[in-house]
Amino acid sequence: MAAPQHVRAAPLARALRATATATATATASVPVPVPVPAGIKSQGTSRRALLGLSEPQLRQLAIDLGQQSYRGKQLHDLLYKSRAKQIQEFNHVPKAFREALLGAGWSVGRSPVHHAVTASDGTTKILLKLEDNRLIETVGIPVDDDNKGSSRLTACVSSQVGCPLRCSFCATGKGGFARNLQPHEIVEQVLAIEETFKHRVTNVVFMGMGEPMMNLKSVLEAHQCFNKELKIGQRMMTISTVGVPNTIKMLASHKLQSTLAVRSCGRRLFLAPSLTPWEH
Ligand code: SF4
Repeated sequence: MAAPQHVRAAPLARALRATATATATATASVPVPVPVPAGIKSQGTSRRALLGLSEPQLRQLAIDLGQQSYRGKQLHDLLYKSRAKQIQEFNHVPKAFREALLGAGWSVGRSPVHHAVTASDGTTKILLKLEDNRLIETVGIPVDDDNKGSSRLTACVSSQVGCPLRCSFCATGKGGFARNLQPHEIVEQVLAIEETFKHRVTNVVFMGMGEPMMNLKSVLEAHQCFNKELKIGQRMMTISTVGVPNTIKMLASHKLQSTLAVRSCGRRLFLAPSLTPWEH
């Protein structure tokens, strides 16, 4: 994505109040609807991904596969603490459980790094090769806060393969649109950045390839996983949009404590009924 020339940011709850008809507050957090483990099949992939599932979902999956509930907790630790990349690495669970997972079509849902390049300021762009051989881009941006002696690491994550919105300034848009990313394909971007930097991600911006508001279900599930499983504060996350009609109220109804950034690219954007912003 090309760097936007102008960004207006507002807490999601404030964005909702601005629509006059809504009632969001910035204090409560409503769980994002999440998929039931059984029956999940990723768009663009042939297997079902464990990554992105919560501990209750993993416990239920264990029970569904004839195991005791605590085996789901073990899966959770393997995914989010040990960061296992393949079910074959699940040494702490019985072989029969590993085989049951594989037999039911489950995978961890991690993709190999295809290429990575680091700029002089430490910003690192990582290309991940998805199961269907498509490439997505994710960027890690390190910032040292000299005054506090702390450091931040921001992950700029993609939400789609390509983008249907074709903003004139943007290389991603010119390349066309292939498909939406599944939740695990968004989550794994943060894990790839943490492994590259050997540092936990402190901030997430949904500002990579694609328009997050056109893949809102996956974005919300990934947002929830970042918050609940990876312990990234909601206030440390920003969802960026060029403006897609009817989606801001939908997003705000989830009462997230994150920020909504609206990119205007130096030109006035109007929300046309066709789902595509047009410039004036
Ligand atoms: S909405 Fe799509 S085309 Fe527009 S800037 Fe973002 S990625 Fe590029």
